[in-house]
Formats: sequence, C-alpha cells, structure tokens
Amino acid sequence: MKCIFCDIVAGKQEAHLIYEDKTHIVILDKYPIQWGHSLVIPREHHEKIIDLSTDAVSSLFSKVPVVARALLKATGADGFNIGQNNGKAANQIIPHVHVHIIPRYEKMGNPWKRRMIAKDEELKELAIRIRNFMESI
Ligand SMILES: [Zn+2]
Repeated sequence: MKCIFCDIVAGKQEAHLIYEDKTHIVILDKYPIQWGHSLVIPREHHEKIIDLSTDAVSSLFSKVPVVARALLKATGADGFNIGQNNGKAANQIIPHVHVHIIPRYEKMGNPWKRRMIAKDEELKELAIRIRNFMESI
C-alpha cells in the first residue's frame, strides 16, 4: 500500500523537515490549517494510535511539547491545538498515525475549516526557522 508518510520517511517524497531522530520525523503540513501547522510522525507505519504500543505512544507525544515550544517561538503564535485523528470518520486523511500541532493566533480567529496552500519557499524558510528553536528531545 502506498503511504505518503512512509515515502517521506524513506526519502522518496519531499517534505519540509523540522526534526528527525531514529523513531520520528516532524514536518510542516503542506495544507496548513494555520501558519506553522506541523505533524509529528513515527517512522514505523501504523494506521491508528490504537495500533501502537504504550511506549510508542509515550515516545510520540514526548515530542509534542518540544516541537510546540519551537513553533511558538518561531511563529509568534499565541497558542496551539494538538490534534490526533483516527479513521476516516474522524477526518484522518493519511492512514499513518500522526499528531497535529496547530499554532493559533488571536488576531486570526479560529478557522478550523479553512486551509491555505503554502508556498514551498515559505515552508522551507519556516522549517529552518523552527529547527533553530528545537531543543533536544
Ligand atoms: Zn506509512
């Protein structure tokens, strides 16, 4: 089965990388809900969070605050949402488990539904900026 996140992990598909280690990668969402919308993705393919071991879930979520801190610094966002969708009915678009971190800006309201189409150049710059704020996980 073709999986875009597995392709990104394997280096077959480009993405704007914020962070990577032996078990996870963190990338910018190509179709962000808000500027800086990021995805924490385990390298190993599993569809849903219920398919992961407890340790794998712990490891996955341990990345979230570190990424969020860097995102807040890099974007100047006022807050952020964490999202984790499981199954089509829950609006999981890519069937490879991942956690959304969505920066929120007081002045921009809360447009859950709208998405932008980000420009590669802008995403590239932002990824570099966020990487500079990343602490070790
Ligand atoms: Zn996959």
